[in-house]
Amino acid sequence: MAAQILDGKSLAAQVRAGVKARVESLSQRGIRPGLGVILAGDDPASRVYVRNKQRACEETGIRSQLHEYGPDVSQSDLLERMAALNADPAIHGILVQLPLPRHIDAARVLEAVSPAKDIDGFHAANLGALLAGTPGFVPCTPAGVMRLLEHAGVPIAGRRAVVIGRSNIVGKPLALLLLQKDATVTICHSKSSSLGSITRQADILVAAVGRAKLVTAQMVQPGACVIDVGVNRGADGKLVGDVDFDAVRAVAGWITPVPGGVGPMTIAMLLENCLRAASQQSPA
Ligand code: NAP
Repeated sequence: MAAQILDGKSLAAQVRAGVKARVESLSQRGIRPGLGVILAGDDPASRVYVRNKQRACEETGIRSQLHEYGPDVSQSDLLERMAALNADPAIHGILVQLPLPRHIDAARVLEAVSPAKDIDGFHAANLGALLAGTPGFVPCTPAGVMRLLEHAGVPIAGRRAVVIGRSNIVGKPLALLLLQKDATVTICHSKSSSLGSITRQADILVAAVGRAKLVTAQMVQPGACVIDVGVNRGADGKLVGDVDFDAVRAVAGWITPVPGGVGPMTIAMLLENCLRAASQQSPA
């Protein structure tokens, strides 16, 4: 039997409707959640991502403010802007669209975001909170994956989870979230040998690499839940994930499509985090 499709688009629409309702009730108390976005450089994909995030904000009633810089922006300009956004009471969440131009020390810029406004969850204080299992902002893509799994009722506790990819924004935080839910977790990366023999043990297999069709049907245990975080542009210009969707679908128990799986959930989690930041920064 073909795998059940985990429809991120439809779940994200539900999440967004919930955010919209809560933004409305906050507005009745005179609080309008505000997002400050920093976009620097001339990466066309980043521009599209930012536009989509801003559109999603508008739809839910979150006010968004874009601060755009060219590829020659200086580090001190960005840090100055960050200080102003940190101090602005109308801005509750700050988003730094990555990648930043090469000459900018991105880690330094991310560390300059106030942890209370760090709705992307990339600040060391929030990543540390995730490691310690204490409250903080969780990076949006891993949070979106967990929401998809929970919504579909995919069993996690006691199951084997394999995450391919160890970035600070996807692979590592997702592995920690799965561990928090009592999965037995393995993280794979570019130096992992015998990748297929590891992935075949997975009840939950997550691909967060950025290589089209890296995960083949032979690498998947029958009935496993396969989550495709990857976003790659195929030769025909279409978006494809890291998973060979058509072949894996015939083997897996659950699978996310690309597009329409993890991507919309990432934006939905960003909105939730922004709303939470606004609630936490506002007097009761
Ligand atoms: P990244 O920082 O480039 O990390 C990629 C990871 O994949 C690294 O840990 C790398 O290992 C590992 N890797 C590379 N080749 C591999 C191979 N052949 N076998 C096993 N592991 C391999 O990327 P990222 O930011 O985590 O993003 C991963 C993918 O998710 C990208 O396609 C990105 O566009 C997508 N993404 C999607 C969303 C969404 O909302 N849908 C959000 C964020 C990212 P090393 O550490 O050894 O180099």
